[in-house]
Amino acid sequence: MAAEVEAAPGAPARAAVGPRTKGLRRRRRVTAPWSLPPLLSRPRQAAVDAAAPRRRCTHCAVEETPQWRLGPDGPRTLCNACGVRFKSGRLFPEYRPANSPTFSPLLHSNSHRRVMEMRRQSEEDASAASRVNAKALRAERAAARSAGKDKK
Ligand SMILES: [Zn+2]
Repeated sequence: MAAEVEAAPGAPARAAVGPRTKGLRRRRRVTAPWSLPPLLSRPRQAAVDAAAPRRRCTHCAVEETPQWRLGPDGPRTLCNACGVRFKSGRLFPEYRPANSPTFSPLLHSNSHRRVMEMRRQSEEDASAASRVNAKALRAERAAARSAGKDKK
């Protein structure tokens, strides 16, 4: 009266693994051209851009690089050149790769040695300026003091 039939009549039901959703998948792959954003004028790049939004180096604004690297704002925020500098602690505001759209030869250099020269120069200028200011201040005070003496 107990266990009579364990296996159900249609137990080995493996036949169901047929042509799954192949047809569906193939249809979904086709991206309707009218669904793409209109600002992308180059049709060949449209698919790439839609997949990954345009990246820009947070330091030098370069948009194309062989490799995106870690920066102060997080991973993959610096271009290859800036990322290498950042990693070794040499990423200064004066550093800029020559292919950067914001590169100005007066303000930037892509050579670390030149960057250091520029920094030293601007520091000297700054301290020279503050020295001049201090001198002027001292002269002013001295004049005020002697003026007070004269009055007495
Ligand atoms: Zn960069």
